[in-house]
Amino acid sequence: MTIQLGTVARPLRVAIVGAGPSGFYAAGALLQQKEVNVSVDMFDRLPTPYGLVRYGVAPDHQKIKSVAKVYDRTAADPRFRFFGHIDFGQDITHADLRCHYDQIIYAVGAQSDRKLDIPGEELAGSFSATEFVAWYNGHPDFADLEFDLSCNAAVVVGVGNVAMDVARVLAKSKDELSSTDIADYALATLAQSNIKDIYVLARRGPAQVKFTPPEIKEFGELADADVLVEATELILDPLSAAEAAASTETQRNLEHLQSYAARPLTGKARRVHFRFLVSPVELIEANGKVSAIRLEQNELRADETGYLNAYGTGTFETIAAGLVLRSVGYKGIPLEDVPYDKRRGTIPNDQGRVKDPASGAPILGEYVVGWAKRGPSGVIGTNKPDAIETVATMLSDLPHTPPAPQPDPTSIDGLLEERQLNFVTIEGWRILDRIEVEQGQAQGRPRVKFTRIQDMLEALHAEIHLKEG
Ligand code: NAP
Repeated sequence: MTIQLGTVARPLRVAIVGAGPSGFYAAGALLQQKEVNVSVDMFDRLPTPYGLVRYGVAPDHQKIKSVAKVYDRTAADPRFRFFGHIDFGQDITHADLRCHYDQIIYAVGAQSDRKLDIPGEELAGSFSATEFVAWYNGHPDFADLEFDLSCNAAVVVGVGNVAMDVARVLAKSKDELSSTDIADYALATLAQSNIKDIYVLARRGPAQVKFTPPEIKEFGELADADVLVEATELILDPLSAAEAAASTETQRNLEHLQSYAARPLTGKARRVHFRFLVSPVELIEANGKVSAIRLEQNELRADETGYLNAYGTGTFETIAAGLVLRSVGYKGIPLEDVPYDKRRGTIPNDQGRVKDPASGAPILGEYVVGWAKRGPSGVIGTNKPDAIETVATMLSDLPHTPPAPQPDPTSIDGLLEERQLNFVTIEGWRILDRIEVEQGQAQGRPRVKFTRIQDMLEALHAEIHLKEG
């Protein structure tokens, strides 16, 4: 007898690996559609859901974080379950999920970062922006990092929105940060910062920046930092001028940069310098740590597709700096037993359907959403249409989907119990959330975050809300 998936008698069982925005939009799309009966189990290696909304979005961008309310509504659906603190590849394997679920969605984002591949990159004082972001956001894996902010100058390499976040956090005063949900230890370190000059470096010109106008606008509103832009660096070559003319976003970015170039310095304690057409070529060491960065000036030349690339001109300069944050993009990492495209850092797929990289054949029952699907681009909302596309692919595959051998929802609980794995349910997360928000209220902050997994688990033990295996 063939089993029909998605009926009342046999709901479609879906596992989602990763509880960030892309995973939640996929869960939302599955639970909202009316074609099939479905139940969704979401796994995350951290006890807390929301991925980059909690650990990526800057603490002073609380409005963006309010998108979590949409995810809360998804999580409140009785057909949804959260298994926090369960690591795919360690606690549960690919084979386990294939045994208990008809379809699996990988929503694991891009958990690593790109390198510059220049000498000195590994020196003390040189970090990826992703490390700094995860640290100030209280990510438990990064809470023990130490950032020495006793130097006078910091360099941020790259001009995407992540670069804007880290440069802004470095430039903000204690008062500006203390009303946010920044990790307590990060607030204490940043409050003692000696950094006066923050250099933000673009390898291409002002018409090719990746940041968006609201982000560059914020630099003009900082309490304790002036913005410096050299008017001569804003002069566009003809190809860049044509690019700018075709994009209202680029024009708005240029207007903000031009207004900064025209502003007199007001003598604020810090200065944020935006520099264009410069590439780092070496980090220079002194006393075992980074002390300066050597830059080569660039010029732009179009390739055969018209894309403007940066080429070194052979003219060099050096900027003294004790902290270097490389903000040149995130990169995916491979999952055990799941195909991986090393060059792109993504899971190879066709409209979200995972495919065998060698043969191109679809792997029925396995899907991907978000940055793991398309690479680290777009804003949080970009993940909604992306997830809807994958869910449409999943539903169209249903007639050919091999049913899971053990679809009973209690069988996965049994497996976790057998392995003595403690996991955090959505009710458990709500308790952690409530504790964080209550502690925040006392300090006039949105929340005070737990930054240690052990503390989260102990708080749940105290409330008897950890599911013990
Ligand atoms: P991104 O937007 O791709 O920017 C990466 C930057 O690094 C670009 O300026 C790129 O320059 C530069 N770069 C790459 N390789 C380089 C090299 N070898 N040397 C020097 N510069 C190099 O990446 P992101 O900033 O990590 O952001 C990831 C995504 O998250 C983006 O879509 C972003 O908009 C989004 N995000 C949004 C927000 C928000 O909405 N507020 C906040 C944070 C992140 P080229 O252009 O020359 O390659």
